[in-house]
Amino acid sequence: MTTTSAAAAARATVYGYPRQGQGRELKKAIEGYWKGRVTAGALHATAAELRRTVWQQLAQAGLHEVPTGDFSLYDHVLDTTVMVGAVPERHRAAVEADALDGYFAMARGTQDVAPLEMTKWFDTNYHYLVPELGPDTVFTADARKQLAEFKEALALGLTARPVLVGPVTYLLLAKPAPGAPAGFDPLTLLDRLLPVYAEVLADLRAAGAPWVQLDEPALVQDRTPAELDAARRAYRELGGLADRPKLLVASYFDRLGEALPVLAKAPVDGLALDFTGPAAANLDALARVGGLPGKRLVAGVVDGRNIWVNDLEKSLATLGTLLGLADRVDVSASCSLLHVPLDASAEQDVDPQIARWLSFARQKTAELATLARGLSKGTGAIAGELAANRAVLASRAGSPLTRDPAVRTRTAAVTDADARRALPYPERAAAQRARLGLPPLPTTTIGSFPQTAELRAARADLRAGRIGADGYEDRIRAEIQEVIALQEKTGLDVLVHGEPERNDMVQYFAEQLNGYLATRHGWVQSYGTRYVRPPILAGDIARPAPMSVRWTTYAQSLTAKPVKGMLTGPVTMLAWSFVRDDQPLADTARQLALALRDEVTDLEAAGTAVIQVDEPALRETLPLRAADQGAYLAWATEAFRLTTSGVRPDTQIHTHMCYAEFGDIVQAIDDLDADVISLEAARSHMQVARELAAHGYPREAGPGVWDIHSPRVPSVAEATDLLRTGLEALPADRLWVNPDCGLKTRGRPETRASLEHLVAAARAVREEL
Ligand code: GLN
Ligand code: ZN
Repeated sequence: MTTTSAAAAARATVYGYPRQGQGRELKKAIEGYWKGRVTAGALHATAAELRRTVWQQLAQAGLHEVPTGDFSLYDHVLDTTVMVGAVPERHRAAVEADALDGYFAMARGTQDVAPLEMTKWFDTNYHYLVPELGPDTVFTADARKQLAEFKEALALGLTARPVLVGPVTYLLLAKPAPGAPAGFDPLTLLDRLLPVYAEVLADLRAAGAPWVQLDEPALVQDRTPAELDAARRAYRELGGLADRPKLLVASYFDRLGEALPVLAKAPVDGLALDFTGPAAANLDALARVGGLPGKRLVAGVVDGRNIWVNDLEKSLATLGTLLGLADRVDVSASCSLLHVPLDASAEQDVDPQIARWLSFARQKTAELATLARGLSKGTGAIAGELAANRAVLASRAGSPLTRDPAVRTRTAAVTDADARRALPYPERAAAQRARLGLPPLPTTTIGSFPQTAELRAARADLRAGRIGADGYEDRIRAEIQEVIALQEKTGLDVLVHGEPERNDMVQYFAEQLNGYLATRHGWVQSYGTRYVRPPILAGDIARPAPMSVRWTTYAQSLTAKPVKGMLTGPVTMLAWSFVRDDQPLADTARQLALALRDEVTDLEAAGTAVIQVDEPALRETLPLRAADQGAYLAWATEAFRLTTSGVRPDTQIHTHMCYAEFGDIVQAIDDLDADVISLEAARSHMQVARELAAHGYPREAGPGVWDIHSPRVPSVAEATDLLRTGLEALPADRLWVNPDCGLKTRGRPETRASLEHLVAAARAVREEL
């Protein structure tokens, strides 16, 4: 490769890094502070130490510019709320009394004051705290956190670049504050917000920041002309400031589309663009707008959301093309490395042949440094790294784990008919009614019962070798007995075994499927101090043996009522795992579907008449751009049908969804062709029942009548009222009675009481029919 002036000094950087520390020291310090065991001073010292370690590691690995301000004690959007002074009225006193306690009060709420709402950060599994803005919101600049962290990095002698959530994204992520007039649009506050950003930028400039990064991921979503215009105005104004650092506007998670010309023409000094996955379309689009003459381009060529080793030659080729399109090209990951675990070399249990394929934050950093070197000095300078990389990629492509001929033959042979039930719903419904003999408004639960301390202790005992597999299974069976007894006593119609054997609804199945890897230290922040360890879809998926059948059949042996089999669906398995990047998601979904289909068939053969396949994540994996959503929903719903269509007409298939509004995917819900769907609905007063009715949804549904996210026990009157509301939308022979979601986070006493009320409500409303 020839070097040009743009490449002469290519730099490597990242936009953010995992915050927790290798031993999750941050989690321990914060939770310790909440419990009063760690002082504020000690917490701040731990946090500073973690930041220092990260920066020094990044610099040592060869990164030229480290990010600052991306670190957070809870969430970077909440930090932005503090930075712009948008503390909600109800938290004002707490924040004034003590900044740290007030901060955590906004994040978690207190006895008296509700926290900010939490929701997903784009299509990741990270959750942010939603800003609440109204016409009365007064913004005031508070750059203290940004300044302090920038100065810490400077003091270490590093080149640092503060990273801020950009003003347009901040407003687009906000919701109207309680009490704001109906239809209030937070984006109308832009003119009030920009002077605050100007102040923060001036402060950072004064502290010595040459560059500041403003993250605008909201611009990769479909945006209205008015929203694009807001972006245009924002960057015209910020770019036009006299006293400012150089501005790098970053986008990630998808292509910029219509927003690309807006930002390319803005008077800012650089853009950071994602060139991975669907965002690879940024490449052609950039050429079409004539590149970024006079500007810096930071090219996100290493996937910041996945855990696979980068194809360095492919990235270099992309970078080579980009060289002609900007004044200067630097190298980065596609997004903050917050979304991947820290260090793959900590995974001692993974077969070393396979561990080589993995690249977590630390390994990605090294890849970025290598790419920057290759871009600056030519491929000869990184010949050794390229050869090693080629060998790793070849071993992955040629591995029997990634290519299981039996799985390939089977997926290739799938026909449309395999993904269709043998009979249409009305005939199935009649057969199921005859087989199950349920009353109108049948009662059931979503699957899990409270995960007790004893269950967690049993799992810890098993791991530590204090009990054997038999001892563990005995404890699980004892739990199932109790759960069945409770449900019989309460008078529920369709019972569950309670899922006591599950550590997690994805991990439990992943551990039993071929092609999946588990990590020991692969923690990724989900929200606040909550971390998850997503399993890795590494190879072709096969199910060597039944996974859940023995629990369901044991539960069924204890009762004459039907017990629902309980599985996690293919789309949710995919959504909550790290996915393969060497084949389309649809192919992985199909492999998962066939493995789960075998489980469904085995459950049926064991006498299970009702089988639930949970898909709570169907909505959350929806692509960010509407143009991509149809294709996704087509393969996602097909994967569900492939999982569930191998059964007899008189076997009743249930599904369950939660965590989302469903208004925009009712057609997809219909396309699942499940006989019964249960949905979260209690808080929205059965909104989803009306949406299903408006769509003409033809099958059975159980909009939840008990909000299980709170320990409150719903009264019989409340549940009755919700049921009557449900009946205004759906007829009695198609309406089920159930809670919003599983009960694993609930306590025993409230569970018993709530279920009694739920059954009483169903009985009362049946009387009215
Ligand atoms: N069956 C699961 C449970 O009850 C469903 C969980 C979920 O929807 N997230 O726990
Ligand atoms: Zn749920």
